[in-house]
Amino acid sequence: MTTAVVVGAGPNGLAAAALLAREGLEVTVFEAAEEIGGGTRSYEAVLPGLLHDHCSAIHPMAVTSPALRSLDLERHGLRWRQPEIDCVHPLDDGTAGVLLRSVAETAAGLAADGGRYRALLEPSVRRWDALAEDVMGPLLRLPAHPLLLARFGLPTVLPATALARFFRTPQARALWAGVAAHSFRPLSDPFGSAIGLGILVAGHTAGWAVAEGGSRSISRGMASVLREHGATIHTGVRITDRRQLPPADVTLLDLDPGQVADVYGDLLPPRVSAAYRRFRRGPGAFKVDLAVEGGVPWTDERARRAGTVHLGGPLDEVAFTEKEVTRGRMPERPFVLVGQQYLADPFRSVGDVHPVYTYAHVPYGYEGDATEAVLRQLERFAPGVRERIVGRHVIRPAEFAATNPNFTGGDILTGAKTVPQLLLGARPALDPYATGLPGVFLCSAATPPGPGAHGMCGAGAAASALRHLGARPTWRDGRPRHHGSRT
Ligand SMILES: Cc1cc2nc3c(=O)[nH]c(=O)nc-3n(C[C@H](O)[C@H](O)[C@H](O)COP(=O)(O)OP(=O)(O)OC[C@H]3O[C@@H](n4cnc5c(N)ncnc54)[C@H](O)[C@@H]3O)c2cc1C
Repeated sequence: MTTAVVVGAGPNGLAAAALLAREGLEVTVFEAAEEIGGGTRSYEAVLPGLLHDHCSAIHPMAVTSPALRSLDLERHGLRWRQPEIDCVHPLDDGTAGVLLRSVAETAAGLAADGGRYRALLEPSVRRWDALAEDVMGPLLRLPAHPLLLARFGLPTVLPATALARFFRTPQARALWAGVAAHSFRPLSDPFGSAIGLGILVAGHTAGWAVAEGGSRSISRGMASVLREHGATIHTGVRITDRRQLPPADVTLLDLDPGQVADVYGDLLPPRVSAAYRRFRRGPGAFKVDLAVEGGVPWTDERARRAGTVHLGGPLDEVAFTEKEVTRGRMPERPFVLVGQQYLADPFRSVGDVHPVYTYAHVPYGYEGDATEAVLRQLERFAPGVRERIVGRHVIRPAEFAATNPNFTGGDILTGAKTVPQLLLGARPALDPYATGLPGVFLCSAATPPGPGAHGMCGAGAAASALRHLGARPTWRDGRPRHHGSRT
């Protein structure tokens, strides 16, 4: 039987493993942590029974991911739940930018910018299912829908600050800035609109969904697919040297490029090894999980019904703070993302005590304590919140790296989204998943299409691995179909 080894059981490693197991390969997975899931773990860190997501929380990309859809994770227990309001970006004057599932309803709330918002997003949202095939894969290949891709792609080349000028109201500008800030890059960078537009289009298609029972339900679903196909998962095994791995026909690495250079050492072609060691990291995250009695008393009533709240003030302030963290300076008022997943998935709460998830953007490897800065941002838009906090748990950048070596310095996106890394991944190559070693592939979020719990990097690498085996996968609906014999 043809064999595959997968190192790392994050969403990409698991997606790669599940797709290959479904194709009939004998798959073995090695995971460093005691628990699978990587960025899709959930935990009861603050109070027993109170469920927080450790990392990924909001999943428009996962819901629309061709790879995850093709694995039919609903059959393996995954249920998506939708908040009533997707995202609110409050401003100091009591107004807010409000994002709803429907483009039309969002536009209706954006007053003078409504028409512009519709014009920007509606055409891509209408065709996202087709567009996802092109957008959620490697860039250097013939697109399946070139005109559609061109229509979507044109505004993505703009810096987010330039696209913001398309809007006139502070609410629409701030809302856009908060979504664009998910790229952890200065908003003035070229291609700075790409990640934000991807999130908006996927979000209007699928909602800013949360996984019932925590994000761990995504990885548990994939583990169930693996079990169904007889795969083996070893946890608590950190791979630091290739000699720890059993021989296999193909090996897929859900690792950051620096680790791949360490694990394979001199065996890697020198140009690949040099590129992996040069791989640039992005700013970090500083997470504060809270237990809040009665929920956060947001001034803006709509924020009380929103799955996500972005705290960063107006466009200029978000642009300033994102530039500061990229330059290694900690701003006084960092951009903070707040997750209220319990509103869509109430079983995460204990009585009237609710799990509130927050993280601030901080410089790479930040060693200070950002807890106060996060609480100040909360108080700014929800006076009185401190009195309601009955427990907290902090994850510093170094602790992210300790629980997952891919998140060095707290860089939760597995690499800076600079233009070359955003477009090409860890190195320029026709096959962004190839390591230059026959049969060995990189499948982590360092490869296209990049970060997110969507499994599409794993799916792309699995397709490359099948091609290496002489199979001819065609990439449709996330399912690589092969026409060759591998056994
Ligand atoms: C705080 C935070 C918030 C986020 N929010 C969102 C969100 O809302 N929506 C979203 O879609 N995404 C979000 N993300 C990003 C998302 O979680 C990641 O992009 C995604 O998990 C990357 O998947 P991956 O499989 O490439 O790697 P990872 O999830 O990093 O998994 C890699 C796995 O490999 C294991 N590993 C690493 N090194 C070794 C080794 N040497 N040997 C063996 N095993 C090893 C790790 O323990 C880990 O389990 C967030 C991440 C964080 C941390």
